[in-house]
Amino acid sequence: MISFAALMPASESTRLFNRARRVLPGGVNSPVRAFAAVGGRPPFVERARGARLYDADGQSYIDYVMSWGPLIHGHAPPELTRALRSAAGRGTSFGAPTALEVDLARIVCRLVPSIALVRFVNSGTEATMSAIRVARAATGRDRIVKFAGCYHGHGDAFLVQAGSGATTLGVPTSPGVARATAADTLIAAYNDVESVERLCRTHRERIAAVIVEPIAGNMGVVPPAPGFLEGLRDLCDRHGIVLIFDEVISGFRASRGGAQAVYGVMPDLTCLGKIIGGGLPVGAYGGRGDLMERVSPAGPVYQAGTLSGNPLAMTAGVWSLSRLSAPLYRRLDKLGRRLAEGLRTAALETGVALTVNTAGSVLTPFFTAGPVTDYASATAADTEAYAAFFRGMLRRGVHPPPSQFEGWFLSDAHTERDVDRTVRAARQSLAEIRPAPRESAPQRPETPR
Ligand SMILES: *Cc1c(COP(=O)(O)O)cnc(C)c1O
Repeated sequence: MISFAALMPASESTRLFNRARRVLPGGVNSPVRAFAAVGGRPPFVERARGARLYDADGQSYIDYVMSWGPLIHGHAPPELTRALRSAAGRGTSFGAPTALEVDLARIVCRLVPSIALVRFVNSGTEATMSAIRVARAATGRDRIVKFAGCYHGHGDAFLVQAGSGATTLGVPTSPGVARATAADTLIAAYNDVESVERLCRTHRERIAAVIVEPIAGNMGVVPPAPGFLEGLRDLCDRHGIVLIFDEVISGFRASRGGAQAVYGVMPDLTCLGKIIGGGLPVGAYGGRGDLMERVSPAGPVYQAGTLSGNPLAMTAGVWSLSRLSAPLYRRLDKLGRRLAEGLRTAALETGVALTVNTAGSVLTPFFTAGPVTDYASATAADTEAYAAFFRGMLRRGVHPPPSQFEGWFLSDAHTERDVDRTVRAARQSLAEIRPAPRESAPQRPETPR
């Protein structure tokens, strides 16, 4: 018997993926890249420029992954590439202070209203882990509150889901996370201040921090409902809890000052990542001076990093943040609206139930009639329909994120023509989807990335 696959010329990406699986768990270094949620195999990227990805088989794609958010200026801006080359020539890491770290810190403190002092790390994961350590040190309490559907990196304390019943403690979502660690993480419902209030009553004087994505991006895009962030601020003030905004996506994306500048709610601590590194590995946490003064060596809370603040990463950060301007956000917002409107119209024309949530230049088309306001309504989306849609888009030279529960990222390199081409591809891809009756249990978002 001749298999269908045997008749197809094996692509270079397939060959590379098969090789990768022999030396990397699942063939990748971060899970969502393996395409488990959408089927098929991932194109192996050879290079990228502007808004375009080029794979090992010579296919090109309009990219909406954009490295999952960092590349607000597009792939490989020539000016940044030159700056990096020049920085590399002077040495890539010294393990000693440099002027570049001060430059980037001054920019961050100027742009983000609530940050008085900032510490650079190498990833968003490190930023959130360190921020809760500071909060626990400052309050002398152990428990933290996170929201179902929000992602804060792969630190043990965050790989937790709600236990059964309102008063139970969190349980691990990943083997290897100690039950005792998970028990200190309490889960609330996004856009539901009352669910946090209940936790505050039950765990009186034991909650150190509430951590939240002020614009949720990791269950797909879910903006905060009016009053939600203000309500959290108020609750935290009343209960002596440290409010942490995880702005790893929304920082420098929602506006130059992040979501906190858009909504006018100041957290005590802010976690940053993605755009702050301009495509290189950078994270940061910062906030109120009295809290950040606790970080070593200014204070006793230990946190360190061999490559933290290295000159290559700082060069990319300074370059990227210096180029954030009001006209850039206006342009990005306009592109975001054009894409969202185009997708909505295409869905209407093809009779597919689609809810497009947007927050400026990041959006998610949910395959559900909606509205999508929290984890429960996000996970009502038809993930099989998304997978079919995704495969249709990829065939047509558009690369959306390979999961229903992620944001599509626009950049300064995307054009109206790119967006219009994307909408045409979407109309064709949506028309191919048969609205099949749902019988299987709804698929949950995998732990992203
Ligand atoms: C990506 C992300 C993180 C983790 O950042 P890494 O650099 O991948 O460790 C944390 N929080 C949010 C909101 C994110 O989107």
